[in-house]
Amino acid sequence: MKVLRQIPEVESFTREARQKSQKVGFVPTMGALHQGHLSLVKQARSECDKVVVSVFVNPLQFGPGEDLDKYPRTFEADKALLEKEQADVLFYPTPDEIYPEEKVSKIAIPGRGLTDYLCGPCRPGHFEGVVTVVARLFEIVCPDVAYFGAKDFQQGRIIQEMVKALGMQIDIKLLPIVRDSDGLALSSRNQYLSSDDRARALALPRTLNWFKEALATAGDAAIPGLLEEARERLAASVNRVDYFDLVDADSLQPVAKKEGRMLAAAACFVGQTRLIDNVIITP
Ligand code: AMP
Repeated sequence: MKVLRQIPEVESFTREARQKSQKVGFVPTMGALHQGHLSLVKQARSECDKVVVSVFVNPLQFGPGEDLDKYPRTFEADKALLEKEQADVLFYPTPDEIYPEEKVSKIAIPGRGLTDYLCGPCRPGHFEGVVTVVARLFEIVCPDVAYFGAKDFQQGRIIQEMVKALGMQIDIKLLPIVRDSDGLALSSRNQYLSSDDRARALALPRTLNWFKEALATAGDAAIPGLLEEARERLAASVNRVDYFDLVDADSLQPVAKKEGRMLAAAACFVGQTRLIDNVIITP
């Protein structure tokens, strides 16, 4: 596996692959890799000729007071894991490499209303930061396929719309959430949790599952009441509930009726740590 730090090195690697008609798969990450990230790398490895993984903690997607400075950075361990998964390139740029200008113009969010709910209102500017870095990385890597996790479902939908809006020929795959044996979705931020926090964090997947089951036998009129109860159940274990919503899985707009593919999604703080999770629901 090559570790590349400069943009032209990555560009020439993928240009060469494309000249040979090889399919390039790309997995963007912020590092502190776990089995959730590695599930994306494994899928890329099984479908593509060349696999590029980026590790870049993107300052643009962190708001003031968020965890940019303490975000876990575990480069040597990440490198060893990616070597084991037989990635071809680990792209590990510096912020200056990605953002050479002091003032970065952020790309606007494509698609109507995708940031109106869920994490959009709670993290102003976050998705603009995500879209900006992903567009930049896509320009550099020029992949045929890019792999994202459904844990960040809203992010995945926004990237799918971005690719459409910018006319990029990249297939965006959104793969299932990988969980620990106790049900907690794997996250680089889980390492912030004390053992007490971790026990309380389990209320997040538990409440999502409770809601999914309760919804299965309830009528449309019961949806607001069930959402309220879910918020209360979650609030009983965690420090703060940012949201617990039921939205259409495509438009990410709230649903009043059980129809189509829906997403129940929640975000909450356990101690100082913000966790998100979701579950797909079909009637
Ligand atoms: P991050 O490093 O948190 O920016 O995540 C990089 C990619 O890994 C994103 O596409 C995430 O959605 C995905 N990812 C993170 N955690 C998980 C998980 N538990 N299961 C599946 N994919 C995940």
